[in-house]
Amino acid sequence: MRAEDLLKPTPSGLWCPPGDFHIDPVRAVDRAVITHAHSDHARAGHRAVLATAETLDLMRLRYGEDFAGTTQVVAYGETVRLGGVAVTLHPAGHVLGSAQIAVQAGGLRIVASGDYKDVADPTCAPFEPIACDVFITEATFGLPVFRHPDPPAEIVRLLQSVRLFPDRAHLVGAYALGKAQRVIALLRQAGWDKPIHLHGALEAITRYYAGRVDLGELRLVRDAGKADLVGTIALCPPSALQDRWTRRFPDPITAFASGWMRVRARARQRGVELPLVISDHADWDGLTATIPATGAADVWVTHGEEDALVHWCGTRGIAARPLRILGYGEEDDVPDAAP
Ligand SMILES: [Zn+2]
Repeated sequence: MRAEDLLKPTPSGLWCPPGDFHIDPVRAVDRAVITHAHSDHARAGHRAVLATAETLDLMRLRYGEDFAGTTQVVAYGETVRLGGVAVTLHPAGHVLGSAQIAVQAGGLRIVASGDYKDVADPTCAPFEPIACDVFITEATFGLPVFRHPDPPAEIVRLLQSVRLFPDRAHLVGAYALGKAQRVIALLRQAGWDKPIHLHGALEAITRYYAGRVDLGELRLVRDAGKADLVGTIALCPPSALQDRWTRRFPDPITAFASGWMRVRARARQRGVELPLVISDHADWDGLTATIPATGAADVWVTHGEEDALVHWCGTRGIAARPLRILGYGEEDDVPDAAP
């Protein structure tokens, strides 16, 4: 079997003809296997959805109970058969419940990574490289300039600022699913044991995480007065950083936790005073370490800086091509509820 006969890039996303399913389809389909619950990968309206229990729960939280016709939980390491195709989910280390999808038939194995990172994250299962013939990699940070610092070191910078400005509040913009909860868990690991305040848009997903990961005491900003917020750390969706909502904080210092904070112009654009380079995607070193670790002879590169990674594969004698599937955003910045 040729790889393109097992998984075919189409305008709806990757399609597996012999198994009759799509991976992370960007349009409504009959049967979807979903890598993770970020809104650009997990859309509502499919007839049947297969994913990890956490991904299904998070989709339910965002879209409501009737987000799909039917759902099927697939655990990490479990193999389900769809048509003549074996489908196995493996941890992707990106956010809670995130999975790489291994598709196998006729002695050929293709692994679709979804979004992934290969660094420690206290809020989700660690990434595992999976041996395969074809590896489909994301390339969000697929340029040599992207080398993310250690996340705990970025958290130390945040805590140093909190100590330096005890009369002010620190307001940290973070994506609602995954990043916000990871920042909280990293703060706890660093010893910050005071209550952490949340924007209302982060509440539902953070409560869901808190049932699985120790996030310490969480409070809602809307329940606090200005004086209560002196010396505190609060998290909000990035879109709220420039909102009048910030006026309820005492002289706030704005931070933003994202891999994009490596680009100073992006921090300036958003008026971010304290950029924190914390990413849920592999950086250049992570991407170029993972590709050879899979042993894949053929690499398909999707969503992000495809050309540089394709070129790098060529220099290593690995066949590679860009997929250019449209519809995947850089990350997830959709507030889930009113503040
Ligand atoms: Zn994602």
